Amino acid sequence: MQFGYSEVCLEHDPGPRHPEAPDRLRAIRERLKTKHGVEYVEADPVGIDEIASVHDREYVESVEEFCAEGGGNWDPDTVAVEETWDAIRQSAGLACWSIQTALEGATGRKTPFSIGRPPGHHAVEDDAMGFCFANNVAVAAQQALEAETTGVDRVAIVDWDVHHGNGTQDIFYDRGDVFFVSLHEQGLYPGTGSVDETGTGEGEGTTMNLPMPAGTGDPAYLAAVEGPITAALTEYDPDLLIVSAGFDAHRHDPISRIRLSTEAYALMTDRLRSLTDDIDAALAFVLEGGYGLDVLADSVAIVHETFDGREPIEPDDEEMESRSRGVLEDVLEEHDLDVDL
Ligand SMILES: [Zn+2]
Repeated sequence: MQFGYSEVCLEHDPGPRHPEAPDRLRAIRERLKTKHGVEYVEADPVGIDEIASVHDREYVESVEEFCAEGGGNWDPDTVAVEETWDAIRQSAGLACWSIQTALEGATGRKTPFSIGRPPGHHAVEDDAMGFCFANNVAVAAQQALEAETTGVDRVAIVDWDVHHGNGTQDIFYDRGDVFFVSLHEQGLYPGTGSVDETGTGEGEGTTMNLPMPAGTGDPAYLAAVEGPITAALTEYDPDLLIVSAGFDAHRHDPISRIRLSTEAYALMTDRLRSLTDDIDAALAFVLEGGYGLDVLADSVAIVHETFDGREPIEPDDEEMESRSRGVLEDVLEEHDLDVDL
């Protein structure tokens, strides 16, 4: 894969006890050293205008000012230092690079994956939260929709980070030109993302939430991707699919109780790649969370290897948990989809 990366993203350092640490990127880079076919690209940062295309301008200016004054705790979890402002602009710029590169036709071994930080999916229109200041994926999706040259009319975002992508949902909730899907652990931070949150107005039906119970493992996640997600996105027929790729649903991640294996990320990647092939959509990846350094690095590496010719190991016939099946059945009913699980 081509990885969008910049040293500027290491300068955002929320302190030694904070899980969203620069070491996350160092761990990924260290693991990718051992892999074949890894390329790095450094993209330009975005400016205030691009960030303000999906956030309130006053909020964006207040973040810039907060950082310029030395930063501190925006809220108990979300911490900035002076260098954070540049990292925010760089992280969003890398996401834009990833999407543009995909739209220019980069596929297969050239598929783009931006590994910027701070992450973005919790940032709502007018506030930072959950370690996120600017919603990188939303900024990039908006740029793709606004650019006349790209011919993008509809964007799909699949967020498999273990936390609900409340910020991305918030930004696009009333819009029909973005279909947002979130797979997350039920009841975990920030507490939103129930099955019946499906969008409003022109966006009615273009938000899909799959809140999986604690203890859910690979079979239910794979069934979610192959079932409701594939059915809904095939019908929606986007020009571009962005994966909001957090890796904190891994069974060895320290902050969640979803039990995915590393292989699950290869399988979900493989299925989403097949989907984008079938519907002729561009495919791009943007990093979100993931706090177990080893499993974060392993999981990013297996996504890379899946594009570098590695065949994922197909699962045996393990049954999904009955509570997880119940959630998927509720999602199918809520979205009026008729597929076998
Ligand atoms: Zn997360």
